[in-house]
Amino acid sequence: MKDCSAKMAIIGAGPVGLAVAKALREHVIAYEQFEADADVGGNWRHGVYRNVHIISSRKTTEYADYPMPENFPDFPSREQMLAYLGEFTEKFGLRAHIEFNTKVVMALPRADGGWEVELAGGEKRRYKGVLVCNGHHWSRRFPEYPGKFTSEFIHSKDYREPEQLAGKRVLVIGGGNSACDIAAEAARVGALSHISLRRGYWFIPKTFFGMPSAELLNPYFPVWMQRMFLRLILRIVVGKYADYGFPEPDHRIYDAHPTINSELLYYAKHGRIHARPDIARFEGQTVHFVDGRAEEYDVVVCATGFHVSFPFLPPGLVPVKGSAAQVYAGALLAEYKNIYVPGTEQVRYGFGPVVTPQADLLARCILLQDEMELPLGLVLKESGAKLPTTHLVDPIAAMRDIRRLRAMIPAMRRRELRLRKKLAGKNAAAPRAATITAPAMDPGTEVF
Ligand SMILES: Cc1cc2nc3c(=O)[nH]c(=O)nc-3n(C[C@H](O)[C@H](O)[C@H](O)COP(=O)(O)OP(=O)(O)OC[C@H]3O[C@@H](n4cnc5c(N)ncnc54)[C@H](O)[C@@H]3O)c2cc1C
Repeated sequence: MKDCSAKMAIIGAGPVGLAVAKALREHVIAYEQFEADADVGGNWRHGVYRNVHIISSRKTTEYADYPMPENFPDFPSREQMLAYLGEFTEKFGLRAHIEFNTKVVMALPRADGGWEVELAGGEKRRYKGVLVCNGHHWSRRFPEYPGKFTSEFIHSKDYREPEQLAGKRVLVIGGGNSACDIAAEAARVGALSHISLRRGYWFIPKTFFGMPSAELLNPYFPVWMQRMFLRLILRIVVGKYADYGFPEPDHRIYDAHPTINSELLYYAKHGRIHARPDIARFEGQTVHFVDGRAEEYDVVVCATGFHVSFPFLPPGLVPVKGSAAQVYAGALLAEYKNIYVPGTEQVRYGFGPVVTPQADLLARCILLQDEMELPLGLVLKESGAKLPTTHLVDPIAAMRDIRRLRAMIPAMRRRELRLRKKLAGKNAAAPRAATITAPAMDPGTEVF
């Protein structure tokens, strides 16, 4: 096995993996990076439809320390996002450390605190630790309904080109950002466009008063004030969703990831998109809805989201509740050290402003962990850190948490010493009741 035990392994070179790589370089932490695809960019390279433009705005998506070019529009296209991420890669010298077309198929914790990484070709390498940046918009979540739809039945992830919808009767399931984008595309090129909504959604236009809606609200306002303000603007600008044929939302703004789209309501008013309720069952090409209506379609697109998944890790090593990975400080486990799982949260609006300080914090955590025996995640847990109850993250709250954690770093070493003494005391009293270090996986465990 190749010994890289002085280095970290970064899995993935999407927006999160790139930010993490830059932070490691800045903190002079040796690493190697693996990317299954042929180039950087992650989802923006291989996971989104051709005509996509970002849903969050330029300013709420760019890395905090690397602005997008001034000549980019408020909502850059997929090509512009790729160009930006490519420039970021070159500017910070990240490319030379990335092994492209190299998929990690297994990462196992070792008894000595290190990690064993297996690549798709069968090669095994030993690393000090792993940074899991494999993204959370790829493992398709399908809805479950009785019966079978016998014509085209795809996930939004498999929608790439308008040609897939051209001239067809399209039903999109879901009310999120992809659902609305695809329903609008079907309104332009399809024979008909219906959208099946299980409940009401807050459809927020992409701009208000000429500004991206994501940038309109002063983020330092408390969330209740932002909600109130947004409700008021929506009432003035949009009116009632019922007037467009959509159900009224049954939840507060921001209780779900916001759907930011200006085309859905526009096409609804032009009779090009029609809302349908939840589905009761499928029968051939017919979809039966819960209101008793039955209609025929050529394509059903399930824009029903994704599972958070880590196929190369032993099952359950990173627990996931709902869509929230159960990690401390956005990335750490209490049971295992030298594994960091950033970027699983769904930041309201774009990734950049949060991922940049989070990557810097991770680099500091890696350096701190080098001085510790116990997993830093365990020390945080014992210091009162809580696991997330949702994957939705308010960017301002996230940045506040990152600043607070950064300020706590000097005290962590002392806390770890105290915790070690406490656990050693417990071990002495009841040797079999407490463990100090996290158990390693049996390398022979069948993982896949
Ligand atoms: C339609 C759509 C629209 C979106 N719009 C926005 C938006 O407007 N704003 C926004 O901020 N976000 C948006 N997103 C979310 C988008 O996923 C993020 O912007 C961003 O791509 C997440 O970065 P990431 O690095 O976590 O994951 P990804 O971009 O998915 O990158 C992960 C990388 O890891 C690699 N990888 C995975 N497994 C392995 C392995 N085992 N070995 C080696 N490499 C591996 C993948 O090939 C990939 O390159 C959108 C997503 C979708 C689907």
